[in-house]
Amino acid sequence: MSDPCFTPALTAYRADEVTVNITAEQIRTMCDASGMLAAIEVVAETGSTNADLLSRLNDLTRPLLRVALHQTAGRGRAGRSWQSVPGGMLMFSLAWPMARAAHELMGFPLAVGVAIAEALHALDLPVQLKWPNDILRDGKKLAGVLIESAANKEGGTWIVAGIGLNLQLPDTFEASLGRAVADAPWLAKMDRNVLLARLLNALAKAFGQFDQYGFSAFQARWNTLHAYANQEVRILDHGQILQQGIATGVDVSGRLLLQTPAGQIPVLAGDVSLRPAATD
Ligand code: ATP
Repeated sequence: MSDPCFTPALTAYRADEVTVNITAEQIRTMCDASGMLAAIEVVAETGSTNADLLSRLNDLTRPLLRVALHQTAGRGRAGRSWQSVPGGMLMFSLAWPMARAAHELMGFPLAVGVAIAEALHALDLPVQLKWPNDILRDGKKLAGVLIESAANKEGGTWIVAGIGLNLQLPDTFEASLGRAVADAPWLAKMDRNVLLARLLNALAKAFGQFDQYGFSAFQARWNTLHAYANQEVRILDHGQILQQGIATGVDVSGRLLLQTPAGQIPVLAGDVSLRPAATD
């Protein structure tokens, strides 16, 4: 019987000198046992893959990866937007049923950052993590992660993890965004089906680990990838400085530990943003 979630869409896009062909079938041929747990679908364009999956959670019976070549209304945290260039980046969301209840998922967004960063390291792309879960290359944002969730009927939680990963951006992109960004032209030349399969495998494995062990399986790995280890940083909320101190790492719950004149403070992720103090 055919799988209703497995969309055999052939989606091609001409980006720069590279024709981007992404198909669910090709991604699937490179999935390991963890990645195979997810159904896969590929679309040429949508508003937001996260919004699409969130609206379908009641009908899902298994994990689902939804890939879009272009998003017209990509979302970031706290109502911020994720900008994309057709064919210039990977954009996908992965819906996954976790056995844990929402209050047992503290640190989950950081674990997603770890999974992506480790998969990129395995592809020889050295990246680091900005708390809570941005992926940086040379100090600039290469990828963003948006985690959304909803309780499921069994007392667990449906997670929707959205990822936008810049591959090859036009020179004008930074100026139009108004901040420094990174891309990875070498990865852009790779078969994107391979990239997506590697990331899906890594995420699926990480989700299983998190369900079993929680953030304790990721704390040391996150701290190894910490972009601002032992550097002075500021925690901002809507532009207001909430805290300032030396970022020493994350604790076993994923809270950022800041060394301040008043002692060590653990900072909860919420919707706050981190900036290195040296840039202001
Ligand atoms: P910040 O990066 O400001 O600390 P954040 O981690 O909450 O905030 P996200 O929600 O991951 O950010 O992403 C939204 C922000 O990322 C936007 O406010 C914008 O500044 C930036 N952004 C949007 N599109 C891109 C892109 N393609 N590449 C890099 N950065 C982007």
